[in-house]
Amino acid sequence: MAQEIWGEIKEAIKQTVGANNFNTWIAPLNFCEIENGVAVFEVPTNFIGNYVAQNFSDVLLFQLSALFGDVRRLRFDVATSVQPAQPKARKIVENGEHETKSSDELPGAPLDPRFKFDTFVVGKPNELAHAAARRVGEGEAVSFNPLFLYGGVGLGKTHLMHAIAWELQSRRPDPNVVYLSAEQFMYRFVQALRERKMMDFKQLFRSVDVLMVDDVQFIAGKDSTQEEFFHTFNALVDQNKQIIISADRAPSEIKDLEERIKSRLQCGLVVDLHPTDYELRLGILQSKVEQYSTQYPDVTFDKNVLEFLALRISTNVRVLEGSLTRLFAFASLVGRHITLEVTQDCLADILRASERKITVEEIQRKVSEHYNIRLSDMIGPKRLRTYARPRQIAMYLAKQMTSRSLPEIGRRFGGRDHTTVMHGVKRVEELKVQDGQIAEDLEMLRRALEA
Ligand code: ADP
Ligand code: MG
Repeated sequence: MAQEIWGEIKEAIKQTVGANNFNTWIAPLNFCEIENGVAVFEVPTNFIGNYVAQNFSDVLLFQLSALFGDVRRLRFDVATSVQPAQPKARKIVENGEHETKSSDELPGAPLDPRFKFDTFVVGKPNELAHAAARRVGEGEAVSFNPLFLYGGVGLGKTHLMHAIAWELQSRRPDPNVVYLSAEQFMYRFVQALRERKMMDFKQLFRSVDVLMVDDVQFIAGKDSTQEEFFHTFNALVDQNKQIIISADRAPSEIKDLEERIKSRLQCGLVVDLHPTDYELRLGILQSKVEQYSTQYPDVTFDKNVLEFLALRISTNVRVLEGSLTRLFAFASLVGRHITLEVTQDCLADILRASERKITVEEIQRKVSEHYNIRLSDMIGPKRLRTYARPRQIAMYLAKQMTSRSLPEIGRRFGGRDHTTVMHGVKRVEELKVQDGQIAEDLEMLRRALEA
């Protein structure tokens, strides 16, 4: 029975996502059951499960709900018998006091229990967005309407929106807060059209106190959805209800979005989340490690692993988190202490993908400039400390900032042996702790090289 319905749903999904996506991602899914509003699938790999969760959740939830009633969540189980230990955070459903009523009568999407203000790490690149979100979360007078958050993928837009919703719910006994993605907005709209329930649809959306629409760039070019969104938007603003919108770019830069919508979106407060910097990434990693360490008490880390990740995986926090998740899963499986080498091994694919192609030669040049020595002396055989120290620093940076192996680095330093490089890297690691000047130099060089 369920299988038959799934067969039907698949057809509908194919229409929506296209044959290519369908064959690559949806066809491999094995639908198992619906269990307390959770649709369970078997997937051949974690990767497929994650990809589907991130990219096709809305379509799946929409289609499943249409036929099975209230389906609020998807779960993907890897089909093999040996399943890598994954942190269970994704699957937690928070019951009780915080359970939103949105799943029943309100047209919203569930809130992720991990996305709250106390798990959001604040740094220079996101402090304004965070401050604005906090203010809105206090739920006092509507101060800026709408609040428009924008920024690149994985920088925390969805996290902040959920945090606002959680905060409002904790402050008011029964707030009517609806969070959903623009895509879901469109699906509901189309569904209402199809079922001739437009009156209900309008009424539902116009009765909320706070409306949050995520990834609004999605409705660009979809004319009737835009139109409906615009009316909903105006109706709520007129009633002085708070609206929060996110997008991957500024309102003025969203193509195929009607001018009148753009200008209305700009009426409130527009804040952007900048790409993360090193400090913020390190902060986020440290806070995640704290969260994980209760779950994996046995996993231990070299301290430089986090610095390495913060350095090498730039901007997208989702990728950063994913790396850490994989490291923890790996370490808890094989019961190993995580060193830099283990990290590089375990995350080779991610590191390669986010490589910013700093070369050893570039590092050598910058470092010799900084210490005022000739490049030939850095690479040459001289052993005087004036040359040896900068050389070691360059080796250290080469190890940290490129994916070259120790022998490869050695070769670029006048054919030195990999043990010499290893010794140099160790020495600088020690010096960094003992000698403030060296730590400062390293920091400056790193910035210069990253710029
Ligand atoms: P976006 O919606 O902008 O694409 P998300 O809000 O989904 O990004 O964030 C991606 C992931 O990164 C989420 O797991 C989120 O918790 C995490 N994240 C992003 N920014 C921060 C931050 N400043 N502190 C903690 N976690 C963050
Ligand atoms: Mg998002």
